[in-house]
Amino acid sequence: MGRLMKTELDLTRRPQVAAAPVSLAGMPVPALRSEMEALGLDPKKARMRAHQLRRWMHYFGVQDFDGMTDIAKALRAQLAEQYTLERPEIVEHKISVDGTQKWLTRFGPNVEGESVFIPDVARSGALCVSSQVGCTLNCTFCHTGTQKLVRNLTAQEIVAQVLIARDELEEWPSAAENRRLTNIVFMGMGEPLYNLDHVADAIDTISDGDGLAIGRRRITVSTAGVAPKIPELGARTGAMLAISLHAVRDDLRDEIVPINRKYDLQTLFEAIRAYPDLGNSKRVTFEYVMLKGVNDSAAEARDLVKLLRGVPAKINLIPFNPWPGAPYECSDWETIEAFADIVNRAGYASPIRTPRGRDIFAACGQLRSESVKKSAAEKRREAAAADTHLSH
Ligand code: SAH
Repeated sequence: MGRLMKTELDLTRRPQVAAAPVSLAGMPVPALRSEMEALGLDPKKARMRAHQLRRWMHYFGVQDFDGMTDIAKALRAQLAEQYTLERPEIVEHKISVDGTQKWLTRFGPNVEGESVFIPDVARSGALCVSSQVGCTLNCTFCHTGTQKLVRNLTAQEIVAQVLIARDELEEWPSAAENRRLTNIVFMGMGEPLYNLDHVADAIDTISDGDGLAIGRRRITVSTAGVAPKIPELGARTGAMLAISLHAVRDDLRDEIVPINRKYDLQTLFEAIRAYPDLGNSKRVTFEYVMLKGVNDSAAEARDLVKLLRGVPAKINLIPFNPWPGAPYECSDWETIEAFADIVNRAGYASPIRTPRGRDIFAACGQLRSESVKKSAAEKRREAAAADTHLSH
């Protein structure tokens, strides 16, 4: 009888296409609650179980329902029957000579994205996560920009990137002392503000103290300038804001960061000024890629200082990272230093970011996967094939 009921419940909520058992790993608490309610638990119990699950999965990193000792055996067995705790498949894992690590993860058939762990010199390190596979923005100096958008990643898929890194670094439980994975940056593939709902849910999950326990002030979201979403990002997530600026004049920015044609510098800066809680302890990071002869003059450094007036800011100067067929060169070292000097003297921290992981194509702007979006016709053919498969 119990079995029968379960099956009936299942049919009401699962699509009738053959699907692998659902993994709960990385799932935000509200979704976990719905899963537990679908199993037949009353809302109060579902809530409690969801909280227990997320602690086992995201604080202790367990990959086996058997390890969940405060969950009744019968329920554990039921969970193991219906769900897994698997991470998405790691297609490739590379380690750079400088210690940077890169994972290529398969989120689904033909949906592969990259994440990069950048260990710091001090006792901290950042995981750079992707929010989309591919990108719609077409910034001319960015390798990801040459890959069409495949799709948005779900919150669970974003969180799974953190689980994978923490597995690899063996840093469970989350509060492990001296952990090396201390920060998250949304600076991988994609434009996070074109996927804000999932990004916000992922940040809730990553910052949960009974979960992955990486505080909101240690999470940075970078945007190329989706102005209307910027204040909303701050209100919903409390994350730190980074802006991919790269040019200080509209004519140049229109060309190299084309979203500027939609939201020009004035619109962008109005949105940035509306970001909640900005101050000395919460500064906006401005990323500025150094492109030889394009945006690296002393005059532009001075204009940058003017543009930033009144905004609590720090500036990351990023030496351009080359990729095959890129139409740019990196500025000369002296030029970068001269640029940094002008910005520094105006009172802004402006570290020149040492390129990391260039040898494994893990540096800023070098991420790209082979995934391509399927046509609607292809998807229909696949669904039809799955249906036939089911009926056999
Ligand atoms: N779409 C978001 C998130 C990506 S962040 C955004 O644009 O902010 C990736 C950062 O690397 C961005 O600042 C991007 O401008 C920068 N970048 C892209 N290509 C680069 C390259 N070839 N060399 C150095 N930095 C690059």
